[in-house]
Amino acid sequence: MKSLLAGLALAVGAISLSAPVLAQDFPNKPINLVVPFAAGGSTDLVGRVIAEAMSKQLGQQVLVVNQAGAGGVLGATAVADAEPDGYTILMGTIATHALSASLYATPPFDPSTDFAPVSLLVTVPNVLLVNPDFPAKTVEELIAKLKAEPETYAYASSGNGTPLHLSGELFKSMTGTDMVHVPYQGSGPALVDALSGSVPIIFDNLPSATEHMKAGTLRPLAVTTLERAASFPDVPTMDEAGVPGYETNTWNAIFAPAGTPPEVIAKLNEAAVAAVNDPAVKERLAGVGAIVVGSTPEELATHVASEVARWRPVIEAAGVTIQ
Ligand code: GLU
Repeated sequence: MKSLLAGLALAVGAISLSAPVLAQDFPNKPINLVVPFAAGGSTDLVGRVIAEAMSKQLGQQVLVVNQAGAGGVLGATAVADAEPDGYTILMGTIATHALSASLYATPPFDPSTDFAPVSLLVTVPNVLLVNPDFPAKTVEELIAKLKAEPETYAYASSGNGTPLHLSGELFKSMTGTDMVHVPYQGSGPALVDALSGSVPIIFDNLPSATEHMKAGTLRPLAVTTLERAASFPDVPTMDEAGVPGYETNTWNAIFAPAGTPPEVIAKLNEAAVAAVNDPAVKERLAGVGAIVVGSTPEELATHVASEVARWRPVIEAAGVTIQ
């Protein structure tokens, strides 16, 4: 009996010790960073730059896993449901952690309580572009064209419920124009059709659009932020280009599943903040128009709450719905 009790005591001791011991060792194997959009988009691009830099910081591989679908909600749900041990984390966006809360009648998850925030990494302007063969060189010309030929044109976005979908619907409601929305599994595949001209108008995140803007294979008409992008100072803002007060943007932040040990969150946060502040990484991100933040977990929690509140009335005013 005595030995049974002693055995039990040992087992209980082992259980209560295991969480801190695991956290201390973290990470002792590769980490999966779920990018909830297709390859070739902005979240993928930013995610890969950060994953490489975090691998160096943590001494373990941070592997990008693309899990696209439902405007980022599919991959985000997978991370919310994953083991809360720090080995499955999400490259979240404004789509997964701010817009989804207002867009779904039954939101797939609670962005505040189903995740443990790690760090807000970057904010990103969006940009309205057209195929170079499209006969509009300015936002004014595009508005005139859409009004002259209503129900004729379509725009591509990275998916239902993404900031690019919101950007398109907000543009339509603020300019009194009409376009059909064509959602993709991310900016990567959306760009393919914008480049071919089959869907000649696209709202994109600046990072994934940058190389096409430089090459002249897509023509930027306006950025969606109230300030011009430092990397393209000649491109006007939507506000300047004839849609006063228009503003959207995007951001990327790392989240772990709720219940991840605080010691693990602290290690991930330290690595993520060091990663975005590495001078080479900072330069690479600035080159594609991403503005580095590198916040604490607490700052990200506050950011999520304020972004959910900020975009709800915009979504209602623009009449955005999930098709
Ligand atoms: N527009 C998406 C977002 O920021 C990202 C699209 C992509 O990376 O393909 O939520």
